[in-house]
Amino acid sequence: MTQAALGTAERPLRVAVIGSGPSGFYAAEHLLNTDAVVAEVDMFDRLPTPFGLVRGGVAPDHQKIKSVTKMYDKIASHPRFRFFGNVEIGSDIAVEDLRAYFHAIVYAVGAKADRRMGVPREHLPGSHSATDFVGWYNAHPDFRHLRFDLTGETALVVGNGNVAMDVARILAAPPEYLEKTDIATHALDALRESRIREVIIMGRRGPAQAAFTTKELREFGEIDGVDIIVAPDEIALDPLTEAHIEAHADRTRDANISVMRVFSERTPAGGGRRVHLRFLASPVEVVGTDRVTAVVVEKNALQRASDGQLRPRGTGDTETIPVDLVFRAIGYQGTPLPGVPFDDWAGLIPNVAGRVVDPSREGAPVVGEYAVGWIKRGPQGVIGTNKPDSVETAHAVLEDVAEGLLDREVPSGEVLSRFVAERRDDAVAYDDWLTLDGLERSAGEAEGRPRVKFASITDMSNALRAARTGDA
Ligand code: NAP
Repeated sequence: MTQAALGTAERPLRVAVIGSGPSGFYAAEHLLNTDAVVAEVDMFDRLPTPFGLVRGGVAPDHQKIKSVTKMYDKIASHPRFRFFGNVEIGSDIAVEDLRAYFHAIVYAVGAKADRRMGVPREHLPGSHSATDFVGWYNAHPDFRHLRFDLTGETALVVGNGNVAMDVARILAAPPEYLEKTDIATHALDALRESRIREVIIMGRRGPAQAAFTTKELREFGEIDGVDIIVAPDEIALDPLTEAHIEAHADRTRDANISVMRVFSERTPAGGGRRVHLRFLASPVEVVGTDRVTAVVVEKNALQRASDGQLRPRGTGDTETIPVDLVFRAIGYQGTPLPGVPFDDWAGLIPNVAGRVVDPSREGAPVVGEYAVGWIKRGPQGVIGTNKPDSVETAHAVLEDVAEGLLDREVPSGEVLSRFVAERRDDAVAYDDWLTLDGLERSAGEAEGRPRVKFASITDMSNALRAARTGDA
């Protein structure tokens, strides 16, 4: 008897997606909905909860952005989709083991590490990475134990991306603002007591080179009790920038500059909380003995680099700014997955249009392995950026199926389920997540919030056990 072709109903293409953030869901969607093959997608996540940075990164006051998860619920309802939460690939199950069970593996693991400033005393108490703070206020179980000393008055946020804006907004916002969000309860309690009243956002380049988007900038002008302070000389443009603006159109940049000009003309309402925008300055030293007491910053000037970009150069002029907290929000970085090629310099899985390649074998493709999202292209772009990115990778999978490259025998989905259960008897299915989701939402309803998040895996497991036995 001849064997059915790979990717038919008799012999579905078995795909593992590692990571359940937007890029993983978009890859799954394309593979499940294509007419080219019949695929079964098993998605793994080390947490019992799906959605990656939509749950653990997007700010709690950005509920509209989070509504994208309705789409992911729809993808997850496909009969050939399964979710294995609470299962860590690389520790609970080795990639090597997984390779035996799937025709294709799609890495959608994101970029969870933070970058360092590389300045003296960066690790003093009071100096933190934005990734830690974001994880903490978003109830990510890895970060719930962290403590941020909010008894001082001034915080410095280093970086000019949207993460810096999120961190600054959450630090500056009054409790009444945060109380309406799904911020972690432990963070809400701590921020209610916070004495932080001044937040400085510092960019190493100028206002025209800021990476944040206009919506995030405008928000500072819309929070009751918060004044946004932009000194006119901070946003004066240097001649190189003027020439660059002349030569290169950029709507976000232009809109940002307009909004900052409006802010610079505002009279502060005196609500007691202030966010200051500072530009062309870089911390060169954190000051303190037991904890942060100040930062020394060096004034920068812009110079044109060989690639035409304007880059910062220290001028030697320094200033010491007393601060109680420092948050570095200068970008994320990928971390290696054991057994998978990794480019240490770029902080991502080396790939060509989504196909993983192995630099130790002269860049030969690792057949059947693919990357999507931040671990594919680096930590840039908003949620929507992942859609075309994941479609490109899904096309690479389909091309490889068509070429016959992935055609080999693998065990069925039932066999895989038994294997996972042997390794993790507390793996979480999508229906379990929907139970947790329902519990979080109803707890939120009682408090007039979108949801009250579980912040610990033990609490999630206990809640699921109670729901299964009818004790919920
Ligand atoms: P980002 O947008 O890449 O911004 C990083 C910032 O850090 C840049 O301003 C960069 O300045 C600065 N920086 C890098 N190294 C530095 C150093 N050594 N000293 C001082 N400053 C330094 O990264 P992100 O803020 O982490 O955000 C990651 C991605 O997620 C972005 O695409 C972002 O838009 C997205 N995101 C979106 C939202 C939203 O839509 N609301 C929220 C959060 C994140 P240079 O430009 O000079 O390199």
